[in-house]
Amino acid sequence: MNIDRLKEFVSVSTDAQDFQKYGKDWSMNFSADPSAIVFPENQADVVKIVEWANETKTALVPSGGRTGLSSAATASNKEVVVSFEKMNKIIAFDETDQMVRVEPGVITEDLHKFVEEKGYFFPIDLAAKGSCHIGGNVATNAGGLRVLRYGMMRNWVSGLTVVTGAGQVLHLNKSLVKNATGFDLKNLFVGSEGTLGFITEVELKVARPPEETTVLVLGLEKMGHVIDVYRHFKNNTELSACEVFSEFALQKVTEMHDLQRPFESEAPFYLLLEVEHPTGDYSEVLAPLFEHCFEKGWIHDGVISQSPQQAQNLWNLREFVSESLSPMSPYRNDVSVRTPNIPAFTEEIEQAYRKEYPDFGVAWFGHIGDGNLHIDILKPEGMDKAEFIKKCKASDQTLFSVVAKYDGSISAEHGVGLLKKDYLHYSRSAAEIEIMKGIKKVFDPKGILNPGKIFSAP
Ligand SMILES: Cc1cc2nc3c(=O)[nH]c(=O)nc-3n(C[C@H](O)[C@H](O)[C@H](O)COP(=O)(O)OP(=O)(O)OC[C@H]3O[C@@H](n4cnc5c(N)ncnc54)[C@H](O)[C@@H]3O)c2cc1C
Repeated sequence: MNIDRLKEFVSVSTDAQDFQKYGKDWSMNFSADPSAIVFPENQADVVKIVEWANETKTALVPSGGRTGLSSAATASNKEVVVSFEKMNKIIAFDETDQMVRVEPGVITEDLHKFVEEKGYFFPIDLAAKGSCHIGGNVATNAGGLRVLRYGMMRNWVSGLTVVTGAGQVLHLNKSLVKNATGFDLKNLFVGSEGTLGFITEVELKVARPPEETTVLVLGLEKMGHVIDVYRHFKNNTELSACEVFSEFALQKVTEMHDLQRPFESEAPFYLLLEVEHPTGDYSEVLAPLFEHCFEKGWIHDGVISQSPQQAQNLWNLREFVSESLSPMSPYRNDVSVRTPNIPAFTEEIEQAYRKEYPDFGVAWFGHIGDGNLHIDILKPEGMDKAEFIKKCKASDQTLFSVVAKYDGSISAEHGVGLLKKDYLHYSRSAAEIEIMKGIKKVFDPKGILNPGKIFSAP
């Protein structure tokens, strides 16, 4: 591999520390072993990198903020990592179309601040927002905390510029609201995990900011009641978020952060609801809804935020879960089913874990209003790491069989990457997987882009 030729047109690192930093994502399940890291500064650099890779038959791994949880931005086989951190400009803002055009390396939180200063709101919001990139959010079709109200990243992408694995530059949709001219190629790239092309520019819609929000945290005895409470609030308010976390997850957050529990009593599960409403005190609407849930026996305690600061403190209890568990290297799952199936689905999973893996510490949390549950398993004290992974993989078969039984997804929002590719068949038919492989061949005929991610070589 001729790395020296790369150095003629792009900044290259072969530093061992950089290999560890840029060679893997947050999931840390595979070791980093790239052969170089390159830092393009514009689209022309990306085109030249792709041409070089096709000539030298070198595999490339697109890399954003590396907060991914499926090992999709991992280079374990001497690939060249293409980092977008130098392509981080906000290019233009169009108030008429309420649209912003950015390079892929813009950090999500920086975009939030930029549009807020303009009096607008960008609704894709996730706990990794301080590090993840817009390009990574597009490539994973990121979800997060406000999907219930605003949808996934896909809903906000109005145009994309990409460099395919064959080196073609495609300007997809050009931010048109209406465009009935054949296949929607833009949407193929959203969620493609860097396997079809490099995203080099993104056009995004922005929203008007919500008027005001109030946050409630409610204590529940059973996961089954989550859906009763959700339905009741959804039918009577404008719900902008509906999140769940277990007592076990809450304990980890309060151990790691200087945060108060939501109320004194303990509950197996907590439901966080964010309600959007006209400016002013909304307790007259919320209090009777709360009381109804209480009378029905769905909740046994709860708190309603009285100030933006209290609302943020309640949000932190949910937002900090993933980060608080990370030092314990949890075995993560991110599954979804339709919301009406949540009670039966969770009951089956809970029973299976209790029976087959009673020593597992299981932290349940997630975007329950979207039918999306994160299930993080912590290694029991004294158990050997290899033994733990073996048991977790065995438990995956149980989990994914139940997911398949309920027509769910083995990866709701984290993607497939390397981590879940062996389980793809639980959610996608053999025919669908073959079609996806065929599409990859069209955009990346020599298979240089993120090979082995989502599925093995076509
Ligand atoms: C604490 C924490 C909380 C999280 N919460 C959520 C959540 O609520 N919802 C959610 O959806 N995810 C969540 N995630 C996962 C992760 O943050 C998202 O998947 C995010 O969109 C990844 O963005 P990134 O820039 O870090 O991408 P990376 O991890 O760098 O890469 C992800 C994928 O995108 C590809 N890619 C990156 N840039 C480009 C590009 N320019 N062109 C082509 N392909 C590219 C990579 O090859 C890889 O396949 C969370 C992660 C953490 C650590």
